[in-house]
Amino acid sequence: MIYGAIEAGGTKMVCAIGTAEGHLIDQLTFPTKDPAETIPQLVAFFQGKSITALGIGSFGPVDLRTDSPTYGHILDTPKLAWQQFDFVGALQRELKVPVGFDTDVNAACLGEMTYGSAQGLNNVVYITIGTGIGAGIAINGQLLHGMLHPEAGHILMKPHPEDSYPGFCPYHKACFEGMASGPAIEDRWGEKAANLQDNAQVWALESYYIAQALVNYIMVLSPEKIILGGGVMKQKQLFPLIRKQVAEMINGYLKTKELEDLDNYIVPNSLNENQGILGALELAKRARF
Ligand code: ADP
Ligand code: ZN
Repeated sequence: MIYGAIEAGGTKMVCAIGTAEGHLIDQLTFPTKDPAETIPQLVAFFQGKSITALGIGSFGPVDLRTDSPTYGHILDTPKLAWQQFDFVGALQRELKVPVGFDTDVNAACLGEMTYGSAQGLNNVVYITIGTGIGAGIAINGQLLHGMLHPEAGHILMKPHPEDSYPGFCPYHKACFEGMASGPAIEDRWGEKAANLQDNAQVWALESYYIAQALVNYIMVLSPEKIILGGGVMKQKQLFPLIRKQVAEMINGYLKTKELEDLDNYIVPNSLNENQGILGALELAKRARF
């Protein structure tokens, strides 16, 4: 059987079809425009490909409550044309297959749990640090939803004593996203994050905020593995810095086999940037009318 998958981002849509074993057969990316333009492009990609079901990992916020009248809609996004848009309904009407739906980060988490380094684990946090910061969370094998869905990029941060930067988030200033996203780095240092590779101070501060967020996730969610992706995490020198500061911040309070092996506990994504689309494929396999 062939399944369809969409990784729906604010800037681009990645579409793919693949097998139940997670083999991607055909993939296409196009820019995210208004729904009136983008939905027909998505439909055209899948039409005639005989997909059994479709899975979508979407930018948010989204309504994931299956008993809600607005299930599958995009909620109050700054992308105005997508506000209150019935994303699942629009595709289901055209393609007439069951549609699985979750956040982009939950899909990425599911991709890593199904095909990547989190296989066999039931409690996993997947964090993307890019234009924004978000986390996909699985607890007891289930992707975490709740009243809306986690917005774990907006946890409040204790500023570093030597950091006078007020924070970039329009809602919270110094939340995790406000202090550590790509745009926050660029705003703080007046230079694109990718061009700051050799400035040790940048990554010392960045790893301090990431470690602080991870410690909070560890204390609340008790994950068995934490996976980090997104543009900013292309700076691989962050990983040892983050692990060291996580150990220092936990300060011996927790003693687990996972924390004794931080190199295998805090890890980069493992699927060659296909974690989101493979997670969406898994959402398709689980979708029912
Ligand atoms: P998005 O979050 O928009 O889906 P990305 O995950 O690629 O996309 O994140 C884009 C952000 O990551 C930008 O703010 C950019 O400055 C930053 N970024 C991209 N490449 C790098 C790099 N090599 N090093 C550090 N930051 C990077
Ligand atoms: Zn915020």
